Amino acid sequence: MKNLSSKPSSINEFQAYINDVYGTKNEERSVEYIYAYLFRNAAYLSRVIGEKGNPRTNFIKSFSWLFALSSKLEIDLEEAFLKKYPSICPYCLVKPCICVKTGKKPVEYIPEWKATEEINAKYRVYKAQYPNLPLEKAVGHINDLYPGNRQIWNVTGPTFQFYRILEELGEIHEAYTSYVSGNRKIENIGEEIADVFAWLVSTWGICFPAKSLTDEFISYYYEYCPVCENESCLCPDHGDRGERLVEIQQLLEFKEKIEEIIELAPEYKDKLESVILSLETVEETRSTTGAVRTVHQATSMLDDIANGLESVDDSTKRVKSIIGTVISLAEKFPWG
Ligand SMILES: [Zn+2]
Ligand SMILES: [Zn+2]
Repeated sequence: MKNLSSKPSSINEFQAYINDVYGTKNEERSVEYIYAYLFRNAAYLSRVIGEKGNPRTNFIKSFSWLFALSSKLEIDLEEAFLKKYPSICPYCLVKPCICVKTGKKPVEYIPEWKATEEINAKYRVYKAQYPNLPLEKAVGHINDLYPGNRQIWNVTGPTFQFYRILEELGEIHEAYTSYVSGNRKIENIGEEIADVFAWLVSTWGICFPAKSLTDEFISYYYEYCPVCENESCLCPDHGDRGERLVEIQQLLEFKEKIEEIIELAPEYKDKLESVILSLETVEETRSTTGAVRTVHQATSMLDDIANGLESVDDSTKRVKSIIGTVISLAEKFPWG
């Protein structure tokens, strides 16, 4: 992105940019492959938000896989989004949405042809106003349309929001399989993709009311693919960076620190050597569950040791300080 004189700003431009970087790779990949990564990243987004972590990267990755899926299916996401959400809610036909009161329908009966005409008219007005819809506008637009999402979030937390994202993700897949079997049009998949996009921008707007999604995107992709740093990604398939599986390198670092403690405080040798053995078992099995169990048991043992150390000579201080390092190391394990 650093070579671009003007940076992407509209939804279309971001979709095109993601396609420039990943299009060649994604050409060889199946829709299912791309969908699986979209699903995984949206799932991890929910987890990071649930843990009150920093979800910025998870947002960008989820949007990126959604763009990639749209390009793979030759769907213009911006167009699909504008058609589905043309400044009024597609069910109650007003802004802000009052579906909660009306039960996903207009206040008064409107024949289907008239409802469609109304949506199309709104779409044309909106399209004339924004021939290229800035990503930033989409965030504001959805949050103005659905202020209830934020109210629900403030009262009950993010669960409802993610339950809806999950549901919409399922609907993308269903629309896709129906399309493949000849029972749906490609536009139907576009509508479902627009729904996931709408829920994601709504979520971003709730999490970061004052932060620019555009800037976040640009800084994430400033050096092109952030993993291989190529303008046209050369990362191998399935070669993504792990987030939730045990990272053996981190486990080795953890083990080294414990070995240091054994040297300084041989009175704990027997206890701590059993931890070393467990860590070696996990190194072998690569089981994330085993790693979590071992690390948690080890940190609680280290906690006890630190609490039991009373004298304040240099060696004890050193042991306490290493224990502190080991425990804070373990707290940073993303899979922990
Ligand atoms: Zn509505
Ligand atoms: Zn890459």
